[in-house]
Amino acid sequence: MQALLGIRILPVVAAVVLVILAACAPVTPVITPETTGPTGEEAAEAMTGEDAAVVYIYSSRHYGQMEAAFVEFSRETGIEVRFSFGKDAALRERLKAEGEFTPADVLFTVDGGNLWLAAQEGLLQPVASPVLQKNIPEAWRDPNNRWFAFSLRVRTIAYNPERVTPDELSTYEALADPRWEGRLCMRPSTNVYTQSLVASLIHQYGYEKAREIVAGWARNTKEFIDSDTRILETIAAGGCDVGIANHYYLARLVVKNPDFPVKLFWANQVGEGPEGRGVHANFSGAGITRYARNVESARRLLEWLSTSRGMALFAAGNFEYPVNPEVEVHEILKPWGNFKVDTTPVEIYSELQDDAIRLMDEVGYQ
Ligand code: FE
Repeated sequence: MQALLGIRILPVVAAVVLVILAACAPVTPVITPETTGPTGEEAAEAMTGEDAAVVYIYSSRHYGQMEAAFVEFSRETGIEVRFSFGKDAALRERLKAEGEFTPADVLFTVDGGNLWLAAQEGLLQPVASPVLQKNIPEAWRDPNNRWFAFSLRVRTIAYNPERVTPDELSTYEALADPRWEGRLCMRPSTNVYTQSLVASLIHQYGYEKAREIVAGWARNTKEFIDSDTRILETIAAGGCDVGIANHYYLARLVVKNPDFPVKLFWANQVGEGPEGRGVHANFSGAGITRYARNVESARRLLEWLSTSRGMALFAAGNFEYPVNPEVEVHEILKPWGNFKVDTTPVEIYSELQDDAIRLMDEVGYQ
């Protein structure tokens, strides 16, 4: 199944006003960002129990500022939202170590594979919610209802329009063509974004064909740069003509400079076969932890984030695309138009991750 993003019916004005209101509101005291949260029994004792109107979140979604969506949720429901931030693997380890004493009600990640792993490891519980079923397209939630995606992070082709025209671009695979020799900027093999993109090639084409493609990328790459932002800046400065980056990094640069001289090309849009599978995407999403104390508040939070208003605010927090195509996108993304997304289940990328790393090693992809 492929999802089409784009026809968005929520009134533009309402969403914009909300964002502005949220941005202008004084810092709400109920939100407690913490770089290190309480752990284990100590934390469990500190919690006031199941009746408290509170949701405790473990999150790898850390964008430096408290997100407007959570502020608005608290304001509207009176439910306090508390955070502990960390890396995905560390948060999972913490949930395992804490077991039934964990203070965490909800796990948020910025990577579907990590959410899937959390579910595999029994760290999440199923949530029976007709609201979530209705608001979140089937491709973007766990068939067993243990996790739900809210917004998409799209990894696609970025180019310098002074050196490349869009008709020269088509697929990730075509960047292996010798015409791009010495013109690509790529993330190295150690980066998880690269690993899942290569995993998607293995899934689509099989190991041997994927290896040829990645060998072509390796040959064509002028510079491996371990930062999407720096890849985009290098393209802008003329250091590379083309690269692959997540869309929201360009959005951040365009917010600062509307004339930032790099454009995105939505990859793999045309054709019936793998060439037309759609752009490679990952997502931000969440699940309720197995030992959550505040299940009811946690469910309300997830449901609220699946509504037009909640999802628009949440996605806009990092210029991501709402998973529900009827929800309004951020203004910055509107000129970038609609596109088809590859909806290959996230677990495929997790399962093929080791193969992807081995493949890149074999062809000398740095
Ligand atoms: Fe990122």
